[in-house]
Amino acid sequence: MKIRISEQAIPEIEANTIIILLPSRLPEALQTLDPALKNRIEEARQTMPLYTKDSIVLLSHGEVKAQKLFLLKVPDNADSFELRQIYSQAGREARLRELGPDVAIALTGLLDPLMEAEIAVEGLVQGSYLPELYKTEKAHKSLENLILCFSRTFEIEKIVRKAELVGNTQNYVRDLVNEPASRATPLFLVEEAKRIASETGSRIEVLSLNDAEKMGMGAFSAVARGSDQPAFMVKLHHPGEDGAQKLGLVGKGLTFDSGGLSLKPWESMTTMKSDMAGAAAVLGAFRVLSFLRPELDFMAFLPLTENLPSGKSYKPGDVVRAMNGKTIEVLSTDAEGRLILADALCWAVKEGVTHIVDVATLTGACIIALGHETTGLFTNSEAWREQILMAALKAGERVWELPMFPEYKELIRSEIADLANSAGRSGAPAGAIFGAMFLKEFVPEEIAWAHMDIAGPSWLPKSSKTIASGATGASFRTLVELGLSF
Ligand SMILES: [Zn+2]
Repeated sequence: MKIRISEQAIPEIEANTIIILLPSRLPEALQTLDPALKNRIEEARQTMPLYTKDSIVLLSHGEVKAQKLFLLKVPDNADSFELRQIYSQAGREARLRELGPDVAIALTGLLDPLMEAEIAVEGLVQGSYLPELYKTEKAHKSLENLILCFSRTFEIEKIVRKAELVGNTQNYVRDLVNEPASRATPLFLVEEAKRIASETGSRIEVLSLNDAEKMGMGAFSAVARGSDQPAFMVKLHHPGEDGAQKLGLVGKGLTFDSGGLSLKPWESMTTMKSDMAGAAAVLGAFRVLSFLRPELDFMAFLPLTENLPSGKSYKPGDVVRAMNGKTIEVLSTDAEGRLILADALCWAVKEGVTHIVDVATLTGACIIALGHETTGLFTNSEAWREQILMAALKAGERVWELPMFPEYKELIRSEIADLANSAGRSGAPAGAIFGAMFLKEFVPEEIAWAHMDIAGPSWLPKSSKTIASGATGASFRTLVELGLSF
């Protein structure tokens, strides 16, 4: 979607629809409306019984140049999180009702204009997304242009350009995740990473499975061997100015997870094209940060592979060796994400990053714990935790910390090797913590590390009022805000 800011009065705006969010007091930009129209809006507002639950479309009778007015009632005490949801809902309904392609909106004035402009643009762009990549008919027409009506353009220009980049890139991330696994293969993601590298003037290094094996990435290689699709380990480097600190983003890129020989039931496989949502979020954040923080020196690491059963697959009971020399007993080939991440983390450490965030659709257990609303956070550093939670707050994403008390180390104990990747048949409680305790073994303590388990929020089984089902791009905005404050 393209965003334009206009200083024109609302009645003069040429658009298909003007979206009007209504607190109890008519927003500033709407004070200039024809009294007849004001009355109709006020009347409509009073018939909307529940705030945010109902919207109304009015036809303009020539009082404004736009053809339609789309009204949505908002509570006066809406905070930034709630307002973001409401803007998202407005975008979603405008798309579903085909109120575009050109829509205009005025700010409610409930928040500081800079903050609200950002939330409005990101929310509308995100809400208007539908995963209709392959519909040959009955696809809903896109919203193409958003006109933000605000009388002091210069004040909000910069923030609107940022929000446009963030919103559109988030939808790109969602496209990557919604793409079927047979198209969004490891090679496909390598091509995307190359495109982003050249677009942002960044360096890229792509390791084949052979290269990875030679570098000692035995955990990644074990997973990758079972598939006929070539696997890759990718490093992106945006060389900024040298500083004492260097950020490393790591994203799990399992382009399809069947569970391997520890095969999943078929029902659990239907959404497993999304097991690369971490890699997609990292790619998106890398792109945005390269544009918004050109001076920042940072890296991204993407282990990209499928996990399939075949005659070459790794087997339950195998012992593999990660790049840092630690040996791992594989009790379930379906706990593969932590294996490919282990080597990606080792590589990040070797490249000299001082701060790491890994993002992964790691455990079903995290969905049980936090549902689809919230990302699970694990970290070895208090300061890093505070920075990440601040970034999540700014980004409007729900993130909640889960514990990594030393007692949990017992979970990952193996009789035959340094670690076990799973509890095996007996099962174990605290599955999300298990995954985090495992990953922690691959990052030295002096490096600030955090793990975000996005298994729940990265994929919505059902559409809600505010967002379409399928890929959400979860954690992408938090990574962006984290990079901006780094
Ligand atoms: Zn798995």
